[in-house]
Amino acid sequence: MPNFHKSANLRANKDGSHPTFTASIRLWIRRRLTHLQHIAIILCLMALHIEANAQQWIDLSHSFDNVTIYWPTAEGFELDIVAQGQTKGGYYYSANKFMSSEHGGTHLDAPIHFAEGKHSVEQIPLSRLIGAASVIDVSTKALRNPDYQITIRDIKDWEAIHGKLADDIILLFNTGYARYWPDRKKYMGTDKRGKEAVALLHFPGIHPETAQWLITHRKIAAIGLDTPSLDYGQTKRFLTHRLLAKEQIPGFENVTNLDKLPPTGSQVIALPMKIKGGSGGPLRIVARIDADMP
Ligand SMILES: [Zn+2]
Repeated sequence: MPNFHKSANLRANKDGSHPTFTASIRLWIRRRLTHLQHIAIILCLMALHIEANAQQWIDLSHSFDNVTIYWPTAEGFELDIVAQGQTKGGYYYSANKFMSSEHGGTHLDAPIHFAEGKHSVEQIPLSRLIGAASVIDVSTKALRNPDYQITIRDIKDWEAIHGKLADDIILLFNTGYARYWPDRKKYMGTDKRGKEAVALLHFPGIHPETAQWLITHRKIAAIGLDTPSLDYGQTKRFLTHRLLAKEQIPGFENVTNLDKLPPTGSQVIALPMKIKGGSGGPLRIVARIDADMP
């Protein structure tokens, strides 16, 4: 280690005291750097600053509150205040408890939701929940038809522009329905509750033929969209769910802000509450867009 005090050739301050050790180091560095080296360091720092600011994070989850949309047969989200305010100890304290069905709001469908013996929430490999995403915009067709089912053609048209879906991609469909949240009638076709309301559901989903084509011809890690279900509202057999679940492919439902993502080049992190044995659960899903994206 160099002797900073000595090599910096320091003089005593006016009052006779000597500079601090840190000041000595600063002076030593200053004397040994040329003008060009200074410029190089500044440019490096600027580049790092730009790099740090180039990444943009997008929140793809709706908040959970008393208007959060759940399936008509499920109870909604409940938050009870346990404590809120100043304590006798002289400090503020806040704590709540909540109750929620697994499948409501922005949530994960674990494969076991529709396929016996397949992964429950805690068993899903993280490699299926974190990774590169592709976003296919089907909103023009879906907003015109609440019974729209995403077709193989939709994927092929997207691939003709953006290239073949990469292996292990997280595939997300933007139907445009997130704009209706939390208006149940617009978002899912009915604001009625209970078993009778299920027949009144109208919202877009993924056609079972499309799900089968993705399984046979592509290798996706996970799939998601901005409606209440992978199957469209009028389904009776939940075939899309069943096909994907059998292949251990998790689903993300009631996702939002997909219109803010580029078709390719975002990284998604989709981490649900780790409910052991869970068939699904509340999901915090976010995306990072990198600067050099198209
Ligand atoms: Zn679900």
